[in-house]
Amino acid sequence: MKKLKRREFFKYSLAGTGGALCSNLITKIPFIAIPDTAYALSSTGKLSHVEAKYYKKLEHKEIECQLCPKKCKVGDRERGYCGVRENKKGIYYTLVYGLACSFHKDPIEKKPFFHFLPGTDAFSIATAGCNLNCKFCQNWEISQARPEQTYNIELSPEAVAEYALKGNSSSIAYTYSEPTVFYEYMLDCAKLGRQKGVKSVMVSAGYIQPEPLVELCKELDAVKIDLKAFTEKYYQEICRGKLQPVLDTLKELKKIGIWYEIVYLMVPTLNDDMKDIKKMCEWILSNLGPDVPVHFTRFIPLYLLKNLPPTPVSSLEQARKIAQESGLKFVYIGNVGGHEGENTYCPKCKKILVGRYGFTITQMNLQKGKCKFCGEKIPGVWG
Ligand code: SF4
Repeated sequence: MKKLKRREFFKYSLAGTGGALCSNLITKIPFIAIPDTAYALSSTGKLSHVEAKYYKKLEHKEIECQLCPKKCKVGDRERGYCGVRENKKGIYYTLVYGLACSFHKDPIEKKPFFHFLPGTDAFSIATAGCNLNCKFCQNWEISQARPEQTYNIELSPEAVAEYALKGNSSSIAYTYSEPTVFYEYMLDCAKLGRQKGVKSVMVSAGYIQPEPLVELCKELDAVKIDLKAFTEKYYQEICRGKLQPVLDTLKELKKIGIWYEIVYLMVPTLNDDMKDIKKMCEWILSNLGPDVPVHFTRFIPLYLLKNLPPTPVSSLEQARKIAQESGLKFVYIGNVGGHEGENTYCPKCKKILVGRYGFTITQMNLQKGKCKFCGEKIPGVWG
């Protein structure tokens, strides 16, 4: 088995900070594994055997998974929808614990989080698997893969926390695929990270049951939710999921009191109806309040939606205007480098609080979480 020295692993895995997709990383992993000792490259086929946390035993060795709203009923020697959990003789196991197929040091702005430690880095990891199947997924090579189909590196929670710390990352991000499906691994990484003074953030579709969410949030510091549309039709036809559980997750996050931000990827002709966007903004305002940041991001044709054009910037601007007029205070435009909608503005004096160009911070006018011009307190996690 090929292994790699800690220093070499560190050097290669943390090289560069922006722009790399997981798919690129998959191809890099065999390369970094060529040197000797310390971390083994798990060849395709090696899986973990750690008992899952949320499931119920049924008759005849069948189980019901209770981690996400799909609530898969899984027979002996079968897997759930996400492909990374397996029933063996009536015990349900996660197959991806400690098996990262992607890891990278990213700016926190890439997740995107705009009100969470701006200008810092997040040591970002993923495993194979997802509990949805979005036709626009930019990381489909890993999200729609089974763990046997990705190159996985053995990366224990201790190692994740250590690499984050030594690489000067302020946080660990669980991202790229859907972290809900590697729940147990994420939970342990977050616990160990916290012990070492490293925060944890989840980048998720929010397709998770309330009980595991509540337990997880005790160890997390922030959550980003992709609210993919505001219609059940879109969730069913484009994502193979349901809208209501995601709305329930958002309300639960507010109740828990953890910091969270919302991203809305606007896909031309599919979820860019401004009437629906208005309804969504009104729902956010009345259920979550005016302070939650909402990012309208530009769609780039990928995966199963290559037939559609990129989102016109004018549509993003229109959505942002609707959201602002609805009363939301922090509304952003994403994936349009240099747009004024990338900046954070003070809701009181309207001056730029955090200037951005893409993932780069160009100016910082916040002092201890307050506007340095007028003293307005700005919601978020600032230090
Ligand atoms: S986490 Fe996976 S196995 Fe469990 S209910 Fe969701 S899709 Fe099914």
